[in-house]
Amino acid sequence: MSNHTSFTNLNVVCLAGGVGGAKLADGLARILPPQNLTIVVNTGDDFQHLGLTICPDLDTVMYTLGQVANQETGWGRSGESWRTITAAVELGGADWFRLGDLDIATHLVRTQLLQEGQSLTAVTRHLCHHFHIQPAVLPMSDQPAPTHIESDGVIYPFQTWFVKERWQPPIHKIHLPEDVRATPQVTARLEKADLIIIAPSNPFVSIDPILNAYPIRPIIEDLPRAVVAVSPIIGGQAVKGPAAKMMEEMGMAVSATAVADYYGDLIDGFVYDAQDAGLLEGSDLASLCVDTIMRTPADRARLAQDVLDFALELT
Ligand code: GDP
Repeated sequence: MSNHTSFTNLNVVCLAGGVGGAKLADGLARILPPQNLTIVVNTGDDFQHLGLTICPDLDTVMYTLGQVANQETGWGRSGESWRTITAAVELGGADWFRLGDLDIATHLVRTQLLQEGQSLTAVTRHLCHHFHIQPAVLPMSDQPAPTHIESDGVIYPFQTWFVKERWQPPIHKIHLPEDVRATPQVTARLEKADLIIIAPSNPFVSIDPILNAYPIRPIIEDLPRAVVAVSPIIGGQAVKGPAAKMMEEMGMAVSATAVADYYGDLIDGFVYDAQDAGLLEGSDLASLCVDTIMRTPADRARLAQDVLDFALELT
C-alpha cells in the first residue's frame, strides 16, 4: 500500500458526530483537496439554551477544522474565558451547560441568522467561511431532528441526558424523530461520492441520526461505492463518552466486532484498532487493523490516509 496515493479526483463523504468524527474529518481535510471532501454532521444533539441555538457536533467539527478547538476539554474553543456564563448563572440562568465567551459568539451569530430565515446549511457555510474552513461541512438536515433518550420511563432530550445527567441514567431506548429529511446539498454530495467514510463516532447517537435523515441510508445502501467505518470501540472501551456503556445496556457485546455487526450490510470495510489485533480475522467483512487513536494532528492524517488507501482497495 502506498503512502502517496493521489486522491485528486475522489469525492469523499464522511459521516461524523463530534469528538471522534471531528478528528477524522480533520485528518481527511489534511489530505484531500477541499472540493473533494464533504463532512455530513449529526444535528440530533442540537438544542436551545439561554435563547441560543447550539449545535454541539457542528461546533466541534468547525472548531477542529478551524484549528481553534480546545484540546484540554475536548469541546469548545481554545483560549476560552467564562465571564458571560458565570454572570448568567449569577442571574439565575441554568448552570449545567457551560458556554465559553468565544463559543457564545458562534451561537449568537447562528441564532440571529436562523431567526432571519437562513437555513442551518447556509448559516454553517457562513460560519465555516469565517473559520477559514474549505471542505463542505453540512448539517444532515435543516429541520430540527432531536434525539431523545428513554430511561426508566423518563424521556430525556439528548443534552439533558448527556450533560446534565452525565449520561448515567441507563438507556432503555433511543428515540429518533420520524420524517427527518436530509438536505438537497447532502443528497447531492452522497450521490456523487466515490467513498463514504463513517467516522469513529458513536453509532447510536451520532451516526444513526444521520442515517435516519431520509434518504441518506437508502442512498448509501443502493449505490455502488465503498463504505468504510472506523471503530470507536478500542479494547472493549470507548475512547471517550457513553458508546461502551450504551452497548452494554442495550445487551450488545462491547467490542469492535459488535460495531461492525451493527453496521452490517451498510459497510464494505471496517477499520479497527491494533489493540484488537485479530478480532476480525476470518470474518467475511474486509478489514484493516491499524492504530486508530488520534492524539495529534499527525495521527489524524495518518489514520485518514490508512482509511483512504484501504477504501480505495475495495473499490
Ligand atoms: P460526540 O457526538 O461528541 O459524542 O462525538 P462522536 O460521536 O463523534 O465521538 C464519540 C466517539 O468517538 C466515542 O465513542 C469514542 O470512543 C470515539 N473516539 C474518540 N476519539 C477517538 C480516537 O482517537 N480514535 C477512535 N478510534 N475513536 C475515538
